[in-house]
Amino acid sequence: MSATKHNWTKQEILDIYNKPFMELLYEAATVHRKNHDPNTVQVSTLLSIKTGGCSEDCGYCPQAARYHTDIEGNDLMSVQQVKAQALRAKSTGSSRVCMGAAWRNVKDGEEFDQVLEMVRTINKLDMEVCCTLGMVTENQAKRLAEAGLYAYNHNLDSSEEYYKEVISTRGYQDRLDTIDNVRKTNVTVCSGGIIGMGENIEDRAGMLVALSTLNPQPESTPINALVAVEGTPLEDQKPVSIWDMVRMVATTRIVMPETQVRLSAGRTQMSREGQAMCFFAGANSIFAGDKLLTTPNPDVNEDMEMFKMLGLNPQKPFTKKVQPQTVEAKDSEFEALGEKPKWTRPEHTIERNEAAKAKAKAVK
Ligand code: SF4
Repeated sequence: MSATKHNWTKQEILDIYNKPFMELLYEAATVHRKNHDPNTVQVSTLLSIKTGGCSEDCGYCPQAARYHTDIEGNDLMSVQQVKAQALRAKSTGSSRVCMGAAWRNVKDGEEFDQVLEMVRTINKLDMEVCCTLGMVTENQAKRLAEAGLYAYNHNLDSSEEYYKEVISTRGYQDRLDTIDNVRKTNVTVCSGGIIGMGENIEDRAGMLVALSTLNPQPESTPINALVAVEGTPLEDQKPVSIWDMVRMVATTRIVMPETQVRLSAGRTQMSREGQAMCFFAGANSIFAGDKLLTTPNPDVNEDMEMFKMLGLNPQKPFTKKVQPQTVEAKDSEFEALGEKPKWTRPEHTIERNEAAKAKAKAVK
């Protein structure tokens, strides 16, 4: 039976986060060694299968249609394009492909059917397949599972309180409900957040309370450092310090001992020494590829050089869980229900989001 604790309080997590640095690092590294091979790091490739034009107002995101950024929008990629990218990722050491679409939520129809076909195609390449498509219903999650999906990503982004300062078009409970819908299948859950959005340490701890009290805890948790993109409401945020990043990774490792903690956006701003400290503190997954959806990421060769220098090995696919079976579309036991779920639209006003929107209107 797992000894993982599911009733962490904010104060307990703050006490861990604020420990003397060396003590925190030692404790996190000890937990890490007990639960994982410290020399193995899982490598995922993030692929933007549909870029830009999103209806949401996430303050950190250049893909929101309402802000003026230099992102080039793209319609949904073809299955063949995705297959070619997946093969490329596999040849450079990735065990997982994560496909991201800039959607508020999944809608039944041709595009979703195309995504299901992408899932089948990548699973047949013997790679772990992850999707991040926005909110999903239970039926949609089951259809993804049947196609052979390994993981579904849906980040909580921050604490429930600070989430309201960043996004006004979606509710926190809808995020949790989507995670719950995924949990009704055998698809694993990937959920994490972003630091450096102007939140305080209590908010970071609050996010970790929300994640660590899920039972089971997410199988993977990306920790992103904000990449402030011009034109977005958070464009003026200062880069997060490496010390904060290491503290966040170490705290996540301690409160979620079995989870794969992923270094995600913001790695270009980190030195190799900084990344090495994160691996020591319990990070055991990275996103590879020169782009993370739309923001820059270190080159794959640079990552492989770093792995060599640190004696790290990429994790083989399906090390943590057996490969799901793919059911072909014609044999599916689920049909599109054409649901119209009532996901929340809080629509409160966030001043900096409104200002960025007004600025974009003036430019256009
Ligand atoms: S983070 Fe996702 S939902 Fe939010 S604006 Fe960007 S693409 Fe849309």
